[in-house]
Amino acid sequence: MTEALSAEIDVLPEVRETLKRPQLLIIGDHEVAAHSGETFDTLNPSTGSLLARVAHADRDDVDDAVRIARAALEGSWRMVTASERGRLLNKLADLIDAQAGELAQLESLDNGTPVGVTRNGLLPGVAAHFRYFAGWADKIDGTTIDTGMPGMSVQLQREPVGVVAAIVPWNFPLTMATWKIAPALAAGCTVILKPAEQTPLTALALGRLALEAGIPPGVLQVLPGLGETAGAALVEHPGVDKIAFTGSVEVGQAISRVAVGTMKRVSLELGGKSPSIIMADADINLAIASAASGIFFNSGQVCSAGSRLLVQSSVFDDVINGIVGAAEQIRVGSAFDPATTMGPLISSEQVDRVSGYVELGRGDGGRVLTGGTATNPNGFYYQPTVVVDAPATSRIVREEIFGPVVVAQPFESIESLADKANDSPFGLAAAIFTRDARNSHHLSRILKAGSVWVNCYGYVHPAVPFGGFKMSGAGRDGGRESLDQYLETKAIWTNYAW
Ligand code: ADP
Repeated sequence: MTEALSAEIDVLPEVRETLKRPQLLIIGDHEVAAHSGETFDTLNPSTGSLLARVAHADRDDVDDAVRIARAALEGSWRMVTASERGRLLNKLADLIDAQAGELAQLESLDNGTPVGVTRNGLLPGVAAHFRYFAGWADKIDGTTIDTGMPGMSVQLQREPVGVVAAIVPWNFPLTMATWKIAPALAAGCTVILKPAEQTPLTALALGRLALEAGIPPGVLQVLPGLGETAGAALVEHPGVDKIAFTGSVEVGQAISRVAVGTMKRVSLELGGKSPSIIMADADINLAIASAASGIFFNSGQVCSAGSRLLVQSSVFDDVINGIVGAAEQIRVGSAFDPATTMGPLISSEQVDRVSGYVELGRGDGGRVLTGGTATNPNGFYYQPTVVVDAPATSRIVREEIFGPVVVAQPFESIESLADKANDSPFGLAAAIFTRDARNSHHLSRILKAGSVWVNCYGYVHPAVPFGGFKMSGAGRDGGRESLDQYLETKAIWTNYAW
């Protein structure tokens, strides 16, 4: 399996070593095979070849991990002071920085994001996220309430919610995992991480680094496996207190239905069909560049991708020509080719899904101005694609594609725009390009979206909550709001006049 790698890809010796080792579950401070002995394959989407065989967790392994997570929650982790928790998270951030080169290569081998983007664009954000939440660890406090009742004191205490199962997708494996783990650990929870089956490798690396940082065994465990086995077992397990999920609407709904059985806390970051709105008074070059990166970044495999382009009619042709030009400038290729500006999709299933949507759009009258084809039989590649004239009711306009496909629609006036922009079951993000502050203020108030970017696209920061309205989810990643989701409030009533 490593021959395929050595023949074509230039990676660090540490990465080669990591790939040679057995990819096992991290339970307590041990790396162990699954009880069943089963494994699953993880592929390199740039080549379609096997990267590693990975231990496949199932119910018995989940039982072990939950037992150990509960013991750590009530024992070793509880004994760690809040400021020490912060210090440990900072230490983990330092280790991530120190190994960012290896981690980036491993991540890009597994998910196909161009390695420079992972190294310079994403890994610093992972470390920053841990540092931000490290700062919160010793700032979790309660309040007292004056009820006016004589001889009664009421005190609110904030406590960790308990054992958290973090179930994350493959588009940004380390980032998505970190968005759950950092606030959960800062709050004093323990975490069982279930990475996506397509991208388990950096999750395991992160689990090893957490142990190296001195985070007690059982506080962060990693269970690679399939959704319907490892994922479902975590969701059903009565010893798990909270599910923190990022992924598809369908799976988010299924998780919520099951979780309600034991009233687990659930936070969900789901899909989107986010509009990039370009007004006639916008800086058109800025708008084109930002909207193009808003949809084509990470091959469109971004929950907040700007997959609907709403352009004021008078500039529609200019903007569309510009977006088509930007799409045609993109070099689609291997995550490890320095000339690549857009990597492959994650899997052949994803290529089928994306091309299926484009064919649906064509069938509904959509015109494909550029792209619309899968390329390169040796990896999972799809060309950046721009579609116009698809009717508003077409599935290509309404559903999340999770690929490099943008559908463009004209609008006449700002009055007609808001309904159009909000005409979606989703509400994750929106972007507005305009030079007129009246337009941006007006629209950002009425858009139903968790993030609104004005004259920019896609910014995220550890201190800024990110999440969705409507079908895009419940809860937020990032900021104080995220921390709150890993805390329970206890009201302590003390009668001091007995
Ligand atoms: P995507 O469409 O991006 O692959 P999914 O929602 O299918 O997103 O997957 C996101 C995460 O949810 C992955 O880690 C996957 O293994 C997990 N998952 C899938 N099905 C289930 C399930 N029934 N229960 C729990 N987790 C699941």
